[in-house]
Amino acid sequence: MEYPKHLFAPTRSAALAHLESFIKFAAVQDATQRDAHSAGQPHVSMLSPYLRHRIVTEEQVIAALQQSHGTASEPFVTEILSRAYWKGWLQMRPKVWRDTQSGVIAGLRRLETDRDLSATYEAAVDGRTGIAGFDHWARALRDGGYLHNHQRLNFASIWIFTLHLPWELGADHFMRHLLDGDPASNTLSWRWVAGLHVPGQAFLATPDAIARQSGGLHLPQGLAQTSVAVQGGVTPPAGPCPQGGAWDHKLPTALLLHEEDLSPDWLLEAGLRPLGTAFLLAPSGRSPQPVSAVITDFLRGAVRDCADRLSSDIGPYHKPFIGRGAVDALVTWAIQTEAMQVITPFAPVGPVASLLDSLDTRLAAENIRLIRAMRPYDAAAWPLATDDFARFRAAVRGLI
Ligand SMILES: Cc1cc2nc3c(=O)[nH]c(=O)nc-3n(C[C@H](O)[C@H](O)[C@H](O)COP(=O)(O)OP(=O)(O)OC[C@H]3O[C@@H](n4cnc5c(N)ncnc54)[C@H](O)[C@@H]3O)c2cc1C
Repeated sequence: MEYPKHLFAPTRSAALAHLESFIKFAAVQDATQRDAHSAGQPHVSMLSPYLRHRIVTEEQVIAALQQSHGTASEPFVTEILSRAYWKGWLQMRPKVWRDTQSGVIAGLRRLETDRDLSATYEAAVDGRTGIAGFDHWARALRDGGYLHNHQRLNFASIWIFTLHLPWELGADHFMRHLLDGDPASNTLSWRWVAGLHVPGQAFLATPDAIARQSGGLHLPQGLAQTSVAVQGGVTPPAGPCPQGGAWDHKLPTALLLHEEDLSPDWLLEAGLRPLGTAFLLAPSGRSPQPVSAVITDFLRGAVRDCADRLSSDIGPYHKPFIGRGAVDALVTWAIQTEAMQVITPFAPVGPVASLLDSLDTRLAAENIRLIRAMRPYDAAAWPLATDDFARFRAAVRGLI
């Protein structure tokens, strides 16, 4: 099944339309149906590009599901909670993201010198391996920026165990093409498939499962029969979970929005009336290689939609600062607003957070505070991701 671009219009109203049509199905689904993805029916929500950038939030989706279906919505609420699990887990182990980035660079260097590896890599990303299913998903990913969870699992497993490509390059390829490409969900899912998240527990794709999940469309031959443990990727112990900053309601304030969170409604409802608003986008930080135009177009559209939607509440707003020079330009913008503090939604581990670290230092030199406001949902859920998902789910249950 191909997923055409128009399925993901970068607007809040498109996100709510996805949610509405999914809600009609949510209660009658069970886990088996979620696995099917060839019948062209919405067994999954396809909300991930919206949740990823918080065009709609997890809380909104959970509340809507619970309101419509009560306890019957639990399997899907559990899926949505996985996002907070991976986010919290990485937040307490940021080294895993840095190590993965180093692994990508090392993998790209290997491609320069190892011709066989390079040929396999090129065939994999272009969808020319001859492996049924895999090639189809590779092309769907490049064209539409979305794959079903099972397609992702099978793709990653074949990449690692059949094609023997470095897992970091696969994770990087996803980050360059997925509309929902996320440092936490993506990196940690690839690690999970590789058997690094739970040592010894890798995910092995099988022809039977792929045939079943695709309604008989794909029956791949020659897949690896065993998963040879991937080396490296030692899991560091959980460090402290960061906390958000508190803002001073009396100080003149500017608002900085970014691709990690385009729903600042909770800040506006708490009384924030910014002197001005800027947007920061950092798609090029997702990968050392160029990132798909499908992603950058989506992000630019999402920013436009956010600015239009909130134009009466966010003061004069600036077109997005993007790429190199964004930090310098943001410092100039902040000074021009005459704000004494800049509030920004807390950005989890990833390229936006790195830029905010630099911005923090630069603004401090101008006597302007950068306040990273953390949503109560994140503040409550993330610290619970110290261990495995089962424990997280049990602990987080009381919160929702
Ligand atoms: C190798 C691999 C890479 C992945 N990379 C990403 C990624 O970069 N970004 C991303 O959001 N998800 C990623 N996932 C998780 C999952 O595949 C997608 O969230 C899901 O397929 C998105 O489609 P959906 O919105 O229709 O999901 P639904 O099944 O409708 O789930 C609803 C929402 O719950 C969340 N969710 C569901 N399953 C997971 C999961 N296993 N992990 C984290 N969140 C989940 C997502 O926000 C999703 O939108 C990855 C999974 C694998 C195996």
